Amino acid sequence: MSRHRAPRIPLPRAARRVSRRIRHLFRREHKRAVKRATMRDCCRRCVYCGAPLALDFATIDHVFPLAHGGDQSPGNLVVACAPCNRLKGDMLPQEFFMRYPHAGQNFLAYARVVHRALKRGAKRAVSLALAA
Ligand SMILES: [Zn+2]
Repeated sequence: MSRHRAPRIPLPRAARRVSRRIRHLFRREHKRAVKRATMRDCCRRCVYCGAPLALDFATIDHVFPLAHGGDQSPGNLVVACAPCNRLKGDMLPQEFFMRYPHAGQNFLAYARVVHRALKRGAKRAVSLALAA
């Protein structure tokens, strides 16, 4: 199946400005929609400290950090309060949960749709940390 591509016609300057503005609005709306969905998936709480979160104070955290090759899929996204997000920084989830097992316990309770592998890793890290 071949897809015919429309020839690229350069837009006049004014239209280019409008299209940039629309793109910007779409991106902002998309970000908000992602945040709202992630809030819902995380019981509207910071998944690390368990504090109830308002949409404006929630930040999106990549459980497996982007800096370590994590992705943008819903299975890797959670909401966290800003202090927890800063505390976690670019730490790998196992490392973070070993250091803060209570954050791991909250994560297991509230992060309902993250990848199963992330949950398994969190469970292991928490039980190791609490046994030590
Ligand atoms: Zn928090």
